[in-house]
Amino acid sequence: MIAELAVDLGAIARNAGALARLAAPARLAAVVKADAYGHGLVPVARALAPHAARLCVYALEEAVALRDAGITAPIHVLGPIAPGDLDVAHASGAAITLWDDGLYARQVASVARRRRRRFAIHAKVDTGVIRLGLTPHEAPAVLARYAATPEFELAGAFTHLAAAEEIDSTFTLEQLSRFLHATANVDVAVERHAAATAAAILWPEARLGAVRCGIGLYGIWPSAESETLMRERGLALEPALRWTTRIVALHEIDAGTTVGYGRSWRAERGARIATLPIGYAEGLPRAAGNAAHALVRGTRVPFVGRICMDMAFLDVTGVPDAANGDPVTLIGTDRGAQITAEELAAGCGTIGYEIVARLPAHVPRSYVVTEP
Ligand SMILES: *Cc1c(COP(=O)(O)O)cnc(C)c1O
Repeated sequence: MIAELAVDLGAIARNAGALARLAAPARLAAVVKADAYGHGLVPVARALAPHAARLCVYALEEAVALRDAGITAPIHVLGPIAPGDLDVAHASGAAITLWDDGLYARQVASVARRRRRRFAIHAKVDTGVIRLGLTPHEAPAVLARYAATPEFELAGAFTHLAAAEEIDSTFTLEQLSRFLHATANVDVAVERHAAATAAAILWPEARLGAVRCGIGLYGIWPSAESETLMRERGLALEPALRWTTRIVALHEIDAGTTVGYGRSWRAERGARIATLPIGYAEGLPRAAGNAAHALVRGTRVPFVGRICMDMAFLDVTGVPDAANGDPVTLIGTDRGAQITAEELAAGCGTIGYEIVARLPAHVPRSYVVTEP
């Protein structure tokens, strides 16, 4: 096996429990979009379902995959659904996101009428991301029309926050105020929700009826601030993913030798270079070259040279006993040393979200359920 992704479903369940306790009485909506942030949609959804009020996906295809796997938990599709797919959406029993007040809303109603069951809807209000949603100005009238449409079951009204990671920003409070005004006349039975992981941790006033947590479920912090604040409160999140590969070749090179495409790294003195059998096609960002680190025998060693499509290089000069076949940890712990998804991401100039969301589906995942 070229690389291995081992996912701890016990850690994911414990993270869900910790976030649910933190946010209570707000309910927990567990976000499993992007193949459960690269951790594997179906096994993760199955592990989360008992701990969450519902599962949130981005695409209808993900909702259908969950139903095909026999998962009956409530589902909310966060993203857009093409008019031609509304029958499939209705048959799946998932709630959809609606922010239209014209032809599309009429198409949704007509599918529900024809299929003789109301369509569950979460109405979206855009309070400052400029992504999807009704404007706060138009929202009150449109929400009233949704509530009065017999084919709709208005289950929720929600918004998304633009800067919840920034603990000093007043923009989150501004967005919340816009949202609460826009939804002031909505029936109290309609669940209002705004917070993703960062706001669920940092902004108690944003918890409302439910929090939609993704990244925290996987034990990855949305930001350094949220990590510090949550740790101060004695709450911990456990990273759930371990990403390993093996050394497939070792080279003793002389000073002046260059490594890899473009000859971007040159040995200043004699060095030992390990070749790894993974590259950017396996999810290791090209930006890791000459920038990020991995663990070999519990020692942090640098990537040198450019990351290739399917191969990469580590300078293991500092690990004299490194041997061909040795395990290499890209994310995880090894003999007390740890590299988190956030650290690998920082080395690549990106965020933990992008590292895990781009782990390719073809890299096999294995699942374990640890006890605390
Ligand atoms: C992805 C997403 C979330 C989850 O965000 P995290 O930061 O991963 O917790 C919540 N709500 C919406 C609308 C999203 O797109």
